[in-house]
Amino acid sequence: MKLNIITIGDELLYGQTIDTNSAWMAQQLNANGWEVYEKIAVGDSKKNIIDALIRSMDSVDVVLITGGLGPTSDDLTMPTLAEFFNSSIVLNNEVLNDISSMLTPRGIPLNENNRKQAYVPEKCMPIRNKLGTAPGLWFNEKGKIVVSMPGVPHEMRGMMNDVVLPKLFEINNHEVLVHKFILTIGIAEAILAEKIERWEKNLPPKLRLAYLPSPGMVKLRLTAKGNNKEELEKLITQQVELLKPIIYNYIFGYDDDTLASAIGKLLRKHHLTLSVAESCTGGYISHLITEIAGCSDYFEGGVVSYSNIIKTNILEVKTESLNEAGAVSKKVVEEMAWGANKAFGTDFSVATSGIAGPTGGSKDKPVGTVWIAVAYKNKIKSEKFNFGNNRERNIIRASNMALMMLRNEIISEFE
Ligand code: ATP
Ligand code: MG
Repeated sequence: MKLNIITIGDELLYGQTIDTNSAWMAQQLNANGWEVYEKIAVGDSKKNIIDALIRSMDSVDVVLITGGLGPTSDDLTMPTLAEFFNSSIVLNNEVLNDISSMLTPRGIPLNENNRKQAYVPEKCMPIRNKLGTAPGLWFNEKGKIVVSMPGVPHEMRGMMNDVVLPKLFEINNHEVLVHKFILTIGIAEAILAEKIERWEKNLPPKLRLAYLPSPGMVKLRLTAKGNNKEELEKLITQQVELLKPIIYNYIFGYDDDTLASAIGKLLRKHHLTLSVAESCTGGYISHLITEIAGCSDYFEGGVVSYSNIIKTNILEVKTESLNEAGAVSKKVVEEMAWGANKAFGTDFSVATSGIAGPTGGSKDKPVGTVWIAVAYKNKIKSEKFNFGNNRERNIIRASNMALMMLRNEIISEFE
């Protein structure tokens, strides 16, 4: 069954608030067999909210709304829905109780605005808000379901999990959507598509394939839709097994894996340890590694050796190397990697040195030049890259590339 999401708020249209609500909702709904037909973002305007409702009523069975439910004058959702469904607005004592039992223990007196929130359209069933004061509104009118929830993300999630998703699941318990992500690295989208063309053509009609590229990686998403979840999962597994041998070297993980979590699994499996020496990436590689729970099994630590002094004092980079080749050089990045392995007593270390920009480039070493090295025992691998002149992208791309090189080295030594 199909569903629309309407997000309400001027701040969404200004770009001041990023609409994470609809993304989260769509993920939950998909997992429960609901397909999102359209997402509509509208400002705090009665007319626009009504236009979005009319348009949704034409094409879907269910509309979920977030935002604009609060008690202030810019919150128009409740009166607009009352008008749309031709409903009077009445005091709901249960809601009033909920609000006062939320505020009283905190010593907050019930003011006029709070009382206002206990007035809801007569034609709706209020949804309890355990995390805030604005109740949700569930309408079942004109053969359609319209649910309005607060914009505050955790309040919306609470209502979705407690009430909305279970109820929607009852309505649509015969259809499910199953996704499987296959994560690839080191192969461009076009080449990947060419390699798996035959496999893709032979996919069963129930399965859909999508390519989701991001810098350096391509996610493949297989989606199956039908009635029997286990059967769909089996169907997907069969196809993944057929795909694996075709692109074996490029697959680094599945579903929620990240490059760092995949590396973590490899290091743990082979009882290896890791350290990091970062210059231009400023700790971002360490951040990606330490985002993974349990990384203390293999990650010893890192140095953000931004200045030359730290490079020489802590990582034992030679002053001559810095003077002769400069900080952004093969020589220095390799010495940084050796130095980290020595200082931390690790098996593998990865080091970066580059010019993140926007200033600091030269003719020989333009902004974006990054040297990356991976050391293992007495072996070293280093490479020069240019990631362009956007500082933020530079740091992200250099970090991902460093992890990718690290993964390649672990695999070539141990897999
Ligand atoms: P309140 O009772 O707090 O006024 P409300 O239903 O009126 O709730 P809004 O005023 O629209 O909600 O939004 C409250 C806050 O929730 C916003 O400041 C914003 O930070 C966040 N928010 C609103 N909509 C979204 C959204 N679609 N995605 C992520 N955050 C959102
Ligand atoms: Mg508000």
